[in-house]
Amino acid sequence: MKLKIAPISLRTARRLLRLRSLLVLTLAFALVLAGAFRLPDLGAKDEHEALALALLGKVIVIDAGHGGFDPGAIGGAGTLEKDVNLAVSRRVAALLRQVGAKVVETRTDDAAIAETKREDIRRRVAIAEEAEADLFITIQANSIPQAQYRGGQVFYAAGSTEGKGLSESIQQSLASVLQNTDRQAKSIQNIYVVNNLAIPSIVVEVGFLSNPEEEKLLADPGYQQLAAYAVFLGIIGYYADQPVSDF
Ligand SMILES: [Zn+2]
Repeated sequence: MKLKIAPISLRTARRLLRLRSLLVLTLAFALVLAGAFRLPDLGAKDEHEALALALLGKVIVIDAGHGGFDPGAIGGAGTLEKDVNLAVSRRVAALLRQVGAKVVETRTDDAAIAETKREDIRRRVAIAEEAEADLFITIQANSIPQAQYRGGQVFYAAGSTEGKGLSESIQQSLASVLQNTDRQAKSIQNIYVVNNLAIPSIVVEVGFLSNPEEEKLLADPGYQQLAAYAVFLGIIGYYADQPVSDF
C-alpha cells in the first residue's frame, strides 16, 4: 500500500505560521514581563501577531554601531557604546527572526568589521547592498556634553519618505515602551550609512550615555531587551501599513 502524504495547503501553512508568531510574541511578552521593567499596555496581542506576519521574508540589516578598536561614546561609569549597541542589536535581530524576517547583522561580537573607521562605514553599506536589504537600521547610543538629556531619538535621511515613516514608527514605539521621551523623529544629513543607501536607512539612538541614570539603564540586560522590543514593535508598525506579501 502506498502511503499518500497530502501537501500542506497554503491555508494550513498560514495557520501554522500565525500560531508560531503568536507563541513567539507571547514568549516575548513573558520575557519582558519577567524582567525588572513593566511593559505598558500596547493593545491586543493577536493584533501584534497579525501585524508581525508583515515581516515575513523581509531582509533587514541590524547594524550594531562601532565595535573592536572603536568603542563609540563612553559613559561616566565606563559603559562603552559599542557594548550597548551590540546587546540591543542582537536582541532586535532575535525578535525579528522569530517572526520570519531575514536578518543580516553587521557584527555579532566585539570584533571590528574593518581596520579603519572610514573602511568600517563603507563596509556596513556594502553589507546592506550585498544582502539586497529592505531596511537598514543602525543601533547607537547618544552622548553630549550636557548630562541632563535622556531618551531615545531616531534619525532618517532628509527627503526619504519611507525613512521618515519607519523613524516615526520606531520613535513612537520607544516613547510608549520606554516612556522616557517626547522627542520626534528627525531628518539628518552627512551620516554616511543613512545617506548612501537607496533603501530606508535610519539611526536609532536608544538613549544617552552622557546621562548617569540612563547609562545605568542602558547597561542593564532587562532594559536592553525592552529597548529592543520597542525597536521591533516600531518595525512591525511601519510594515503594518503595507500589504502582507504572499508566499
Ligand atoms: Zn555611535
